Amino acid sequence: MTSEHSVNPPADAAERQANPAIVCYSVDLLPDYDGAFYDAARATAQKIDEVTVAPRDGGTFKVPAGHFFRILSVEGSQVGDLNLWNQHDLSERFFSGKTRQLHASHVTRGDRLWSNLPGLRPMATITHDTLEWYGWDADGGGIHDVIGTRCDPYTNHMLRGVDYHYCCHSNLTRALSDATGMSLAEAEPHVHDVLNVFMCTGFTYDTHQYFMKESPVRPGDYIEFFAEIDLLGGLSACPGGSCGSTHSDDATPCYPLVVEIYKPDPDSLAGWSPQALNGYSGTHGR
Ligand SMILES: [Zn+2]
Repeated sequence: MTSEHSVNPPADAAERQANPAIVCYSVDLLPDYDGAFYDAARATAQKIDEVTVAPRDGGTFKVPAGHFFRILSVEGSQVGDLNLWNQHDLSERFFSGKTRQLHASHVTRGDRLWSNLPGLRPMATITHDTLEWYGWDADGGGIHDVIGTRCDPYTNHMLRGVDYHYCCHSNLTRALSDATGMSLAEAEPHVHDVLNVFMCTGFTYDTHQYFMKESPVRPGDYIEFFAEIDLLGGLSACPGGSCGSTHSDDATPCYPLVVEIYKPDPDSLAGWSPQALNGYSGTHGR
């Protein structure tokens, strides 16, 4: 039987497919990553606070602009799902899609985490990453992706027909509710697409499907950020653990994650100021 959907390629199909790939946004146009500035500031930084996020649970933390925060692996291989909000306006939050377009599918030292429209400014800059050695593996996988969204109970219910309450989406919802006094229903819409900290992911070469593989993170590894504005962070210790097998269940070993906040010597920040909101007029042609 011939499918009514069978499509014959045009005569010049190969020619059309051979058009060159063009990187959409030139990294050269982004504000420079001033490594010397961040390195000098982090050399003076002292730890002032620490938050432990329990396995299969979420937590929040505040980071003043001009401070650093680290997310650390402790006890065992564990991935985390990170949300960031403007501490004074939760409607401004991390924009994983634009961060992906501006930098890459996975982020590391020198990349920034951008906020949603209309703010579109760097919320945080990655200043150290002990997993930056990983690069790209033979499957095309990398670390710290901005392509996944977060594990959530709705997808799990749809695919497996069970209610599981400790997906990252729910962990972040409970944590934000606890931090703000909002009800779960009020807090949930503020939870957004994440930075998948320590997670090893990619797209399969043949079918371009999202895959995960066991995270290479080990206790002592960390990723460090400089807060470019006053931040409220939310972090979930994913029920997938190292994400080497299953997720959205209680079958996988899970470990805590630790967030440390560091304050640099104010003198080291001379000349720096928090990032300004995007300068577009907002008139949209009218
Ligand atoms: Zn998760």
